[in-house]
Amino acid sequence: LTSKRTTIEQHQKSLPVYNCRQRILRELELNDTVLIMSETGSGKTTQIPQFLLHAGYAKNGMIGITQPRRVAAITVAKRVAQEMSGGLGDTVGYTVRFEDVTSKRTKIRFLTDGVLLRESIKDRLLLKYSAIILDEAHERTVNADLLFGIVKEAQKERRKQKLGSLKVVVTSATMDIDHFGKYFNCKGMYLEGRTYPVRVMHAKEEQDDYVHAVLVTLFHIHRTTPPNHDVLIFLTGQEEIESLAHQIRQLAKVDVSGTSDLRVYSLYAQLSQNKQLECFLPTPANIRKVILATNIAETSITIPGIRCVIDCGFVKEKSFNSADGLDVLKSVRISKAQAWQRTGRAGRDAAGTCYRAYTKKQMDSFADATQPEVLRTNPTAMVLQLLALDIDCNNFDFLDAPPEEGLRSAYKSLDALGAIKSGSVSHITPLGRQMVMFPLDPKYAKLLLTASSFGCMEEILSLVSVLTSDHVFVSNTDKNEMASLAHAKFQSKHGDHLTLLNVFNAFVKTEKPKVWCHDNYLNLRSLTYARNVRRQLTEISERLDLVLNSTDDIEMLKKCLLNGFFENIAVLQRDGFYVTVSGNIRAKIHPSSVLHGKYKPSYILFTEIVQTEQTFLRQVSEISIEWIKEVVPFVKNIPTR
Ligand code: ADP
Ligand code: MG
Repeated sequence: LTSKRTTIEQHQKSLPVYNCRQRILRELELNDTVLIMSETGSGKTTQIPQFLLHAGYAKNGMIGITQPRRVAAITVAKRVAQEMSGGLGDTVGYTVRFEDVTSKRTKIRFLTDGVLLRESIKDRLLLKYSAIILDEAHERTVNADLLFGIVKEAQKERRKQKLGSLKVVVTSATMDIDHFGKYFNCKGMYLEGRTYPVRVMHAKEEQDDYVHAVLVTLFHIHRTTPPNHDVLIFLTGQEEIESLAHQIRQLAKVDVSGTSDLRVYSLYAQLSQNKQLECFLPTPANIRKVILATNIAETSITIPGIRCVIDCGFVKEKSFNSADGLDVLKSVRISKAQAWQRTGRAGRDAAGTCYRAYTKKQMDSFADATQPEVLRTNPTAMVLQLLALDIDCNNFDFLDAPPEEGLRSAYKSLDALGAIKSGSVSHITPLGRQMVMFPLDPKYAKLLLTASSFGCMEEILSLVSVLTSDHVFVSNTDKNEMASLAHAKFQSKHGDHLTLLNVFNAFVKTEKPKVWCHDNYLNLRSLTYARNVRRQLTEISERLDLVLNSTDDIEMLKKCLLNGFFENIAVLQRDGFYVTVSGNIRAKIHPSSVLHGKYKPSYILFTEIVQTEQTFLRQVSEISIEWIKEVVPFVKNIPTR
């Protein structure tokens, strides 16, 4: 045990932040806010909370450290608990959306920025905390940006009311320190970094098919490097990852040159927690670990053993067009800052190599930094969350204020949803207050809050859970025909929503979910995740005294959907395209839909717009003009055929 302690102490002392410990603490004693910038791997996330604890900052409250993602909060908490030789939930704990591993003894608490934001609705002054570390500030998620303003306000109020100061540390590897410095009215500190050198290899020419390029590169690495060189591959999303994982496994089986084995892991947000954590476990020395990840692996986390990174150069981003109020999900080029973050993942515990599936020249055209999320996403949820804090977005102290046009359309949507009463001064309605209790987009929250009056609460609980869990159907395998056959039995002529509901209902009834999902070409992970989400949403619904009723009246169920998704109506045109009611976007039904290529209903409701080379409406159901007039009479400007 003593030797283990010594090793940990040696490790801690070897980290660059260790030498700056006194400087950091002195700055924090003199100022309420400190900005710290240093390269990844220098010890910001794991060490600074411990410095604060040992300097006595946790005497009158906890030290909270925010992370942009669940998996980061959990793994980093584990690491720090280990360094402090304590169990998780003891001195060190974590809280994420569906899980709280803390106790009365907890002094250092890792949490997602979403969790801290929800806490601030109940406790504006964040009195539980004596210090808050806002980590990975450069990620600039909407939640993080809101927290910047909220902690600033809490500091001011606490000073005014003499309630004990709130110390704030903002840390990042790549933040714009001048911009942050002006906003927080404080100085920034640069710390020397410590990462190992990473050799960067660019594609020699532009790649049409980056997935193929990635695959070829992986097998090149596999043939030419020792098996303990693990590989981290950056891709854009679940479907792409699962399909490539499948291909790699098939190829590894027949690879005659295969002197050693590959083990393939996936890492993306919709994956269950346990599955996400699997890729952190070491593999035997003769087995190469290959992790296929989205940008979730870009910051914060340390996956031991990674020596090679393959970067596809794209990221899937939600972007928002304030003219029509609709979110569009699309793959876009990463920024230069992101490219370097990804590269850095190869040099965390030894020298490494990064292979980029794009040319040097292509990279020159990438933007320098990623645009903050508040500037490009639908601000509806944010506006509502702030109104729940009695803050009008128009007066909020943003680091970067979102475009006015977007805010206007958000106020309009929320008014139509019944969440706010807008006027010269907007205020939240009782319905709106209930909506913020659900960790969901306001549209989905509205569905849950009104479903009982349509008699279909149980069905909506299931449907919302599946819709927030992403792809349920396994496709893109070499057995497409078999998959289609298996999926056919769930199909509903009413559309994808009813089809998804059929799948979910069958899933929860089966006794052997694993075998059943395999036989039916369904994604066990997504469905398991959906079942967990449903449990959480049911708990919240029960707390709000919502009646858990059920119906087999499909018309009522679809009317209920319409009552939340009234902005997502599209009308069939003579040329076979659909045009959306909000924004007049021309689109086709997505090929994955049960309504694709069949009879085309005149009016449809869709969940999502997906933009690839073409524009598609994903997850669609047939509706009728009479229902629109009856349920959402305020929807105007319906295009004619
Ligand atoms: P930063 O936040 O500055 O990027 P961290 O505090 O996350 O740095 O990590 C500092 C160092 O601690 C890493 O470079 C790595 O050597 C080690 N480390 C962190 N987390 C882990 C982990 N889960 N397993 C092994 N080593 C880790
Ligand atoms: Mg970090």
